[in-house]
Amino acid sequence: MNNGHSDYLVRATALDGRVRAFCVDSTRVTAELSERHGTEPAVTAALGRLATGALMFSALLKKREHTVSIRILGDGPAGVLLAAANGNGEVRGLVGRPVTGADQVSNGKLNVAGVVGRNGRLTVTRDLGLRHPYVGVVELVSGEVGEDLAHYLVSSEQTPSAVGVGVFVNGGGDVAAAGGYMVQLLPGVPSTDATRIEQAIRELPHTTTMLRSGDTPEDVLTRIFPDGFESLDRMPVRFHCPCTAERVERALALLGETEVRSILEKDRASGITEVTCEFCGAHYKLDTAAMEAIATRARR
Ligand code: ZN
Repeated sequence: MNNGHSDYLVRATALDGRVRAFCVDSTRVTAELSERHGTEPAVTAALGRLATGALMFSALLKKREHTVSIRILGDGPAGVLLAAANGNGEVRGLVGRPVTGADQVSNGKLNVAGVVGRNGRLTVTRDLGLRHPYVGVVELVSGEVGEDLAHYLVSSEQTPSAVGVGVFVNGGGDVAAAGGYMVQLLPGVPSTDATRIEQAIRELPHTTTMLRSGDTPEDVLTRIFPDGFESLDRMPVRFHCPCTAERVERALALLGETEVRSILEKDRASGITEVTCEFCGAHYKLDTAAMEAIATRARR
């Protein structure tokens, strides 16, 4: 599967820059998230949709090291879902409960709202290298992720937006296609143009139907803007977790000396403290000497 397939995101404008558009093929990213977290199909779809959204949100970041993370905490059995992307097209994600045992299909579709929950909150955090990150929060509107992201952009950022995100999981549980588009109307779009774009988006097939039929992100944008659009750039996107042993040690030190010493005592018999990155599953092993050093560092 996915032979020769490559994930990428297209950033575009239309109508003399008064419309911003993004389209991404995130098939491999979603497959890797699913494999790393061992998700059931409905959770694969939920996490893949969220990661797809995070990649499109990250396309507005000005610097490679800037990050945007989107967190959903709904009242469904999957618990917290989080996806974080940077300006370099790298994304990672996590989910509270990868396997919920809930019905995977509802009305012939993957039961995303059933695992996410229909009530709860969506939080967007942008770290732009400033003293404080920028944080926006909205209530969920449906738990289907795409509608929730659009609602966030409209109500929290006052940007009329359409968001479509989709994940297709085949009978074997593998990700066959994943991707999405985001279209934003900036001030000054004539209402006739806005109506035409909204109509084109309403008539679009499902994102994964288009991708599975061979459409590229550029082809999807052509369907939305039949009169043409300007492609600004085409950026490869991929799963990447920036965790390192050094970062793990720093994170442990933040727990404070008392907590680090209590972990140290608990693991003293084995002589090894094992820490697992919840984003990628990487294991880090710290011996007693390393933990002593972290405890000392935590004192400062
Ligand atoms: Zn990691």
